[in-house]
Amino acid sequence: MPSQMHDPDSATSAAWLHMEEVHRAPEPEVLAPLIERARLGEGERGRIEATALDLLADLREGQRTGWVNQFLQEYRLNSSEGVALLSLAEAFLRVPDPETADMLISDKLGDGDWRSHTGKSHSGLVNSATWGLVIGRALVGDENRANTLRRLISRTGEPFVRQAVGAAMRMMGEIFVMGRTIDEALKRMKKPDQKGFTASFDMLGEAARTFPDADRYFEAYERAIEAVGKARGDGGTQDNHSISVKLSALHPRYEVSQWGRCVPELTERLEALCQVAARADIGLTVDAEESERLEMSLDIIEHVAELPSLKGWNGFGMAIQAYGKRAQRTIGWAEALASRTGRSMPVRLVKGAYWDSEIKHCQEQGLSHYPLFTRKAATDVCYLACAKDMLEAKAIRPAFATHNALTAATIIEWAHDTDSFEFQRLHGMGEGLFERMVREQGYRCRIYAPVGGHRDLLAYLVRRLLENGANSSFVHQLADEHLTDDDLLRDPVDRIVEVGGKRHPSIPLPEDLFMPQRKNSQGLDLEDWRVLKRVTEGIDERADIGPEPEAVTDVAPLLDQAAAAFPHWSALPIEERAACLDRLADIYEERRGELMALAVHEANKTIPDALAEVREAIDFCRYYAAEARDKLVPQELPGPTGEANILRMEGRGVWCCISPWNFPLAIFTGQVAAALVTGNTVIAKPAPQTPRIAAAAVRLAHAAGIPADALILCPGGPETGAALTGDPRVAGVAFTGSTATAKAIARSLLDDENRPIVPLIAETGGVNTMIVDSTALPEQVVADVITSAFGSAGQRCSALRLLLVQEEVAERMIAMLSGAMDGLVVGDPSDPKTDVGPVIDDAAYEKLMGHRAAMEDRWLKTLEVPAEGRFVPPTLIRLDSMDDLNTEWFGPLLHVATWKSGKLEETVSRINAKGFGLTMGLHSRIARASELVEARAHVGNLYVNRSMIGAIVGSQPFGGEGLSGTGPKAGGPHYLPRFCAERVTSIDTTSAGGNATLLSLDDIGG
Ligand SMILES: Cc1cc2nc3c(=O)[nH]c(=O)nc-3n(C[C@H](O)[C@H](O)[C@H](O)COP(=O)(O)OP(=O)(O)OC[C@H]3O[C@@H](n4cnc5c(N)ncnc54)[C@H](O)[C@@H]3O)c2cc1C
Repeated sequence: MPSQMHDPDSATSAAWLHMEEVHRAPEPEVLAPLIERARLGEGERGRIEATALDLLADLREGQRTGWVNQFLQEYRLNSSEGVALLSLAEAFLRVPDPETADMLISDKLGDGDWRSHTGKSHSGLVNSATWGLVIGRALVGDENRANTLRRLISRTGEPFVRQAVGAAMRMMGEIFVMGRTIDEALKRMKKPDQKGFTASFDMLGEAARTFPDADRYFEAYERAIEAVGKARGDGGTQDNHSISVKLSALHPRYEVSQWGRCVPELTERLEALCQVAARADIGLTVDAEESERLEMSLDIIEHVAELPSLKGWNGFGMAIQAYGKRAQRTIGWAEALASRTGRSMPVRLVKGAYWDSEIKHCQEQGLSHYPLFTRKAATDVCYLACAKDMLEAKAIRPAFATHNALTAATIIEWAHDTDSFEFQRLHGMGEGLFERMVREQGYRCRIYAPVGGHRDLLAYLVRRLLENGANSSFVHQLADEHLTDDDLLRDPVDRIVEVGGKRHPSIPLPEDLFMPQRKNSQGLDLEDWRVLKRVTEGIDERADIGPEPEAVTDVAPLLDQAAAAFPHWSALPIEERAACLDRLADIYEERRGELMALAVHEANKTIPDALAEVREAIDFCRYYAAEARDKLVPQELPGPTGEANILRMEGRGVWCCISPWNFPLAIFTGQVAAALVTGNTVIAKPAPQTPRIAAAAVRLAHAAGIPADALILCPGGPETGAALTGDPRVAGVAFTGSTATAKAIARSLLDDENRPIVPLIAETGGVNTMIVDSTALPEQVVADVITSAFGSAGQRCSALRLLLVQEEVAERMIAMLSGAMDGLVVGDPSDPKTDVGPVIDDAAYEKLMGHRAAMEDRWLKTLEVPAEGRFVPPTLIRLDSMDDLNTEWFGPLLHVATWKSGKLEETVSRINAKGFGLTMGLHSRIARASELVEARAHVGNLYVNRSMIGAIVGSQPFGGEGLSGTGPKAGGPHYLPRFCAERVTSIDTTSAGGNATLLSLDDIGG
């Protein structure tokens, strides 16, 4: 936590505290002062427009020459061909085996309408490339034509298409990358087309997943700084090349929850790089990354800036993103830091590169407001307001990174001179914009120049292609024939004032994501250290969770009570029952801290898991309430005239809900809420390990208006469960737990010959598998595997048990996975830095440790864990064959095997043969692979290119088939009807003496 890291009285920290006010404030509020700051005077407006028109002309000229620009214009992101090329570019270069590479090409080129692009571009090269794609499509697409061509090609013995596509992708890479090595990049900067420009070199590779990767990036930065230092010419740092550093490349756990560990370690690493840069007297700028990392980066930057050994070095800089609501305050912070440490600090103002992923992340977290603006013009306004502050600041040396002619023209107007600042642009973008200014008018411009091999290029390349192709992007709009210069140069202040600074209407607030159906559950910003600290303290304060509710030994009186309550409860209008669930959701939200503490202390949930638990319970309540209102109302059905047919959905009687310890609030609440809202009364038996949180849930449900005898808690073990399900008064059972118990319940329901046939909804486990092919991005696979296999200590029914990696990439993938496992923190779940807590009880511990020990000669990796407590070490276990695992091991033990390229279908069949059917994961960039798995896999939930856990109510209804459960899916549209008796009434309306409706028809009709 930051408390040990900085002094709250210092000027910079005070500015830091004010940032909180705007972080998630509504957009109009944040924008109001920025609009005033960015507003142009009348005289200014005319001059800026004139300059901007000149710049536009230069930029257009520059864009006409680059074939890549032409290529990107021809294949826009909103065409299917553009998207196909983007995905091909993203994946192709990392695929080692020809078979998969061919499949990828066929997949991406196969469906595109390449022919419609032929001859359309001004660029001959682009037209040639298009013809290449047309031929490529012929080769991989339509069978008849393809065969002829394929024969031709095979005669030459050349894998022609693969080579051509590979070459094209490499060329594309070279457009955006300055060189594979720093020496190559330095050499390229000497070429005539870069004349007059300086560079800031960036070592490609970001978001290191392992410590060895982070070391590798560190060394690359160090070598680059030395090389740039050697190449240094005369003049100050502003006239020499510099380096840009991404902190995420230097630490695999650069996360707020790991603050205490990663901030000191990153500070040390950055300090070491700065020492080298200061000795060489070159500039070093810290790039800006995702918004949740802002404060950590400031903490690190502050420490390094204050180092006495770096006093007098004016090269230490930072980047600030104008799309963030805290941008202007961050500039104030930087100015205070620079003046306090007696330096002139280069500050690069950017708009920001992670806009789309940040918006999604915030929606997933269910947070109150976005930390970024949702309209492009708002970002522009903020950029200009920040630019003005920077130009007036005393201790900041401004650098304005933009490819936008209007933004650049405004800065030219405001700066008054050419010397007090520099422009910056990305290599491969905005060519033409600054050339004349640099070579004829004395302005400075620095090119952000990525350096690295193809393997590290991809994430960067995709960001650049997206940036070039986005509809809102200035360089993209430039080529849009429908937009006039006036459109392009419209003052962003006017645009924003026109809409009152309001949020973009197509980007709902996270809480409104599911509107108009229901409110989304509120999240907590655990990536804000203040919130995390507060939540952690609240959980610590509630460590005393009191005594366990007593187990019930005689279930008969409870059943009597619930049976007696049924007629009244079931007769209530649906709306009344639904309103109880909505109230319960609100009460859960109010009492979230208490419920989270129970989840942590009673069920060993980590803090993020505890939050997700409470949110899921809330979502279940609101979802089933909405579903009931929508689907349970009586329906009129069609039939012959003179007849009324009505379908009614009604309660069946007393339901017994038996829930597991691994989701002691969410699953408990989900079952109970569904049974209640459909008109049943409920006896709820929680797992014997987690009766307290269930007791709290029932107390709150009663407070929400559910009568005490309509919902009765029945704590106890297996015998209590058996007594309940065996009792003829029970009219339905909802069960989540092991397959063996589900089968035992099913048998018990049939024991008594005189008992009616009773519905059973069973959700059980699975031997869940993830298939990874060679087109998958290893970094993404590793992050998703870690979450899916080791999150919640593997104690989720959806958790990954068997990882199947395509042979050709298995070694690298496993090495990266082992490295990433080293970063996992195993320990006390109430500590915010813990990733993996203990398993639930001694029995689970013994069972898992027994299996682990039996597989010792197959361990690929295991971790050290605390000596005290039921900590099962996260372990990676190699199998010779995927057929060797047929049992669910409910803990952090991950098995790994390989599969052969071309055998995807067979692999899926072998997984199906295990008989389970809960979750499956697939990581592949080949759309046809995902179609194939979707068509063949017998699983309830298939997750493609993401983690396999964390199903969201209403978005990913959850539940399996085969040995994994009966369905219907929890949190899905078919769940409620299973709790109901369906009753139809058919009335002959003519029996009263004639068919009045028919006889009163108007003769003509209409
Ligand atoms: C030298 C240099 C260094 C860079 N370093 C960094 C860095 O450290 N960190 C970083 O994140 N980026 C960095 N970038 C990338 C930079 O963020 C983009 O290149 C920049 O946003 C493009 O802005 P523009 O003025 O050229 O284009 P414009 O087309 O005028 O603006 C595009 C930008 O507007 C924003 N935007 C788009 N849609 C919306 C919307 N609906 N609501 C709100 N905002 C929206 C986005 O930031 C988008 O990138 C750097 C760029 C350069 C040139």
